[in-house]
Amino acid sequence: MNTEKHLGNWIKEVAGEYPLMIAGPCSAETEEQVLATAREMKDKRIQVYRAGVWKPRTRPGNFEGHGKKALPWLKKVKEETGMKIAIEIANAEHAALAMEYDVDILWIGARTSVNPFAVQEIAEAIKGTDKIILIKNPINPDLALWIGAVERFYKMGIKKLGVIHRGFSSFRPGNYRNDPQWQLALDFKTKYPNIPMIIDPSHICGRRDCIQDMAQKALDLKYEGFMIETHINPDEAWSDAKQQVTPARLTEIITALCLRKQQFQDPVVVDQINFYRSQIDELDNELLELLSERMNLAQKIGELKKEKNVAVLQRNRWAEIMEKAKQKGVSLGLSEKFINRIFNSIHQESIDNQEKILNR
Ligand code: PEP
Ligand code: MN
Repeated sequence: MNTEKHLGNWIKEVAGEYPLMIAGPCSAETEEQVLATAREMKDKRIQVYRAGVWKPRTRPGNFEGHGKKALPWLKKVKEETGMKIAIEIANAEHAALAMEYDVDILWIGARTSVNPFAVQEIAEAIKGTDKIILIKNPINPDLALWIGAVERFYKMGIKKLGVIHRGFSSFRPGNYRNDPQWQLALDFKTKYPNIPMIIDPSHICGRRDCIQDMAQKALDLKYEGFMIETHINPDEAWSDAKQQVTPARLTEIITALCLRKQQFQDPVVVDQINFYRSQIDELDNELLELLSERMNLAQKIGELKKEKNVAVLQRNRWAEIMEKAKQKGVSLGLSEKFINRIFNSIHQESIDNQEKILNR
């Protein structure tokens, strides 16, 4: 997959000079709501209209979508506005109906991409299609599972592929409904730079007030497109009411997005940047040498622990190191969160090495 450059060619064909923008309601609720929302989205920077017709709901007893009945409403949106249409499919029957109604873009939801059986069934049902297929990240942070889902479509000869980053479930959601875990998505992007990465800030944020910032962050990380839930009357939406925005707000969000240049252009600035970068490279070398020296010392301690049969983890010593590091780090202008991350990782490596020595 990573050698085939053309996998992401479709995005320019759909979006032209802008980043790809897929927008529309979480669910197709009524024909009026579908059409009224689409008619308000009069912005040439929105190329694709989304609406869920089969809705995977966490708990039973909620609106689960109208299914097939809603497909003609979307067809009307396409005919009237010229936008392409996109729906979520979760099984072979959905796939067949999407084909029958000539839906342009089919996406695999987060609750489906976790399930290799379901993904395989869908991939076989649409084998060889030239429709665009977008695969949302699975709800659990498992990069291999996400890649595996994409591979299943690729193996069925599907060549217009993209992925959607919608964040990951957690037991105690913090600031976001679904934790973005940026590094996981960036690892995907690094591995498969030819597969377009789209951000779904609506499902990451779970509330409308952080969508703008999340979208900008993704743009800064060179994501190629957005999927933003948009509803004519968000507060009255039958699903995901808190995170949907009005079409007018969507236009404000798009207008405020700042497309940064790919490269520095001014040669004087390039010189300056290179000067800083060479210093950074030098410091990185020193950091690595210091880390290696530190690990050597930890190894020596590991040998002594083995000899005297002493436990690897020494809580008091570790608490003391962390406390000192935080004080020093903060006084040097580093954040406590950063110190925590770095030192936890260093400590973990020392423990792993010592474990190996003790169990040799
Ligand atoms: C959706 O896009 O409305 C949806 C159900 O998303 P996800 O699969 O990311 O939960
Ligand atoms: Mn939704």
